[in-house]
Amino acid sequence: MSQHGSFPTNNVGAYERAVDVIPGGVNSPIRAYKAVGGTPRFIASANGATVTDIEGRTYIDLVQSYGAIILGHAHPTVVAAIQHAATLGTSYGAPTKNEVLLAEEIRERVPSCEMVRLVNSGTEATMTALRLARGFTGRSKVIKFAGNYHGHGDALLAAGGSALAVLGMPGSAGVTKQSVAETIVCPFNVVPEIGYDVAAVFVEPVPANMGLVLPQPGFLAALRAACDAAGALLVFDEVITGFRIGRAGAQGRYDVIPDITCFGKVIGGGLPIGAFGGRAEIMRSLSPLGPVFQAGTLSGNPLATAAGLANLGELTDDVYIELLARARKLGAGLRDAISAAGLPIQVPVLGTLVGVHFATNHVVDYESAKQTDEAMYAAFFHAILDEGVMMAPGAYEVLFPGLAHTDDVLDEIIERAGRAALAVAARR
Ligand code: PLP
Repeated sequence: MSQHGSFPTNNVGAYERAVDVIPGGVNSPIRAYKAVGGTPRFIASANGATVTDIEGRTYIDLVQSYGAIILGHAHPTVVAAIQHAATLGTSYGAPTKNEVLLAEEIRERVPSCEMVRLVNSGTEATMTALRLARGFTGRSKVIKFAGNYHGHGDALLAAGGSALAVLGMPGSAGVTKQSVAETIVCPFNVVPEIGYDVAAVFVEPVPANMGLVLPQPGFLAALRAACDAAGALLVFDEVITGFRIGRAGAQGRYDVIPDITCFGKVIGGGLPIGAFGGRAEIMRSLSPLGPVFQAGTLSGNPLATAAGLANLGELTDDVYIELLARARKLGAGLRDAISAAGLPIQVPVLGTLVGVHFATNHVVDYESAKQTDEAMYAAFFHAILDEGVMMAPGAYEVLFPGLAHTDDVLDEIIERAGRAALAVAARR
């Protein structure tokens, strides 16, 4: 009998089998429920706002692949585009029309990206953006902000928020002193001093890996001015915010134009992809035109570009208006429901992003984000999971309402959140 045929049909059995062959049983650490306890749900299928696990239990899903999904799971247009692309071959190692169309689509929506290169993940985008900034400026230092996550490349991993935060890790073993010797970590929302040896300042313009934190009024513009004064490049990591908090991402919303922008998630409609773009003058430093090397066997993959084009094609101005309204409704509803139970709660909302901080203080940076009550988040996570709503298993993630979260679904989430909050309050 094939091993596949005998795969367990319950989460505990599946997880036991997984941990035997995959470190921690997962292919990305946050998925392991280490921060909240319990057993990860093994997902068998997903549709619209819901995911269904291998035990046959369906949950309203607010994870939405950590933001890769915005139209809802298995959106018919995206599925059809992938199916069609697959019949034409899955990878060629040669240029294709859809790569050009996707790059043009990104440029049309985000004009600061005069030229675009497609890669395979957000991490690849930020790693290459750093090399590009260093190659272009001839400088070596990089500034990043505490609690901003830019993927798992060595140089940008320090004080990275997200899974690192819940695992209590300042960085990672295996990252040499040398590879972070040029990395300067500064508090978010404070414009740092930028030396003339700084190649780039990396920022999540709206950080979403220490919960959701809003930039203080004027912060991003002042950062732009400081970069200009020092001759450093400003790199916006819009892997989460890109095409999510609005048509032109954070830069469109705040009208602050970076030199380089990194993307991922939404531009692939759930398939592996990343991209970075910027001023043509900078982008021309990339191989084969310039001296900064970058390459990828699967870059611009036909399935990923087809899915990305289909996804972006659905994201019209009207859809963004709808998405923003849903996020506001979810945020307000959660805030009311959770505070009605007497729990301390902050629910920042920006664009289509919703944060959930179990804290009384206003969160402005990593230090204040870490005052969130992680144990209370874990208790709420399980209480609402019992109610059939799946949030990310970590206190520093955000909620990703999308087009499939209709008013009815949102009402349902809010009602269940109220019950979950009462259950948590009763156990305090
Ligand atoms: N940048 C930000 C802001 C992210 O949130 C992430 C992932 O969550 C990344 C970069 C890395 O992207 P990926 O996980 O696709 O490598």
